[in-house]
Amino acid sequence: MSTPHDGRPPSSTTTPSRPDSPPDSRPDSRQDTRSGTEKKGGRRTCGSRSWAAATPSDPADASRPASPSDPPIPKPPPTPSSTAAPPAPSHSNKKGFDLNAIETVLVTHLHADHFGGIVFLILDGQFRRRTIDLTVVGPPGTERRLNEAMEASFPGSTEVKRRFVVRVVEHRERTAWATHRFTALPFEVRHAAGAPSYALRVKNAESGSCIAYSGDTEWTDALLDAAQGTDLFLCEGYAHHPVRWHMDLTTLQTHRHRLETRHLLLTRLSPTALEADLSTWDVAHDALTLTV
Ligand SMILES: [Zn+2]
Repeated sequence: MSTPHDGRPPSSTTTPSRPDSPPDSRPDSRQDTRSGTEKKGGRRTCGSRSWAAATPSDPADASRPASPSDPPIPKPPPTPSSTAAPPAPSHSNKKGFDLNAIETVLVTHLHADHFGGIVFLILDGQFRRRTIDLTVVGPPGTERRLNEAMEASFPGSTEVKRRFVVRVVEHRERTAWATHRFTALPFEVRHAAGAPSYALRVKNAESGSCIAYSGDTEWTDALLDAAQGTDLFLCEGYAHHPVRWHMDLTTLQTHRHRLETRHLLLTRLSPTALEADLSTWDVAHDALTLTV
């Protein structure tokens, strides 16, 4: 079955991305945000801006692959011709998700801890006879970076013929991209990743529920737009004090009252942030399950 995309056609996948800038100076603390909070009723308008195609999304689709857990390193790495299945995102397996049923992956930015798991998702699909096409929606340059990541991880893997197509679509600033399941809206934020980075707002087409995810970023008022009218805002809470390119709790606290969301949930806290007084915050934890 091919992914029934009724969204706009994919933009060019050959758009050159900007030269890579230095990666984060600090290692990411991979907090699993696939978890959440029971949020029902009281439907809100999901923001007041460009929701032209207002048909929401499956929040699970948006969060699952975009924030994969650490992909285990294969020993030895399987070659593309191997019959052994490569390791897949561990949390997905533990939670009983069918990885082959994932149709779309939304990517906030092109750091490996945020999109590197797609390599394993593709390889897992290859070895487990996936037939559903996979669409990856990410920043300009996603196709090139993904191919580079695949070749670095499994040389020759980009040349393998598969039973499914991996289609790459590029975000366009504050322009909605929709499927029959959801609409996603990207807001450019401040995080150096060799290509623009985005916060994403995703609206479920069926239920109308709406979530936003900051991705990695220092404070920018674009987050106010991304979070506006959402049922849940997953926000990075990387550090306690200000640090470049990442969100810190001190700065977030000063803007907290401006965020028009029903529920602010911190994710991706560094070890030092986890040691801070978090009594006034709601903090995600590994394997948390959210229903919005
Ligand atoms: Zn990052």
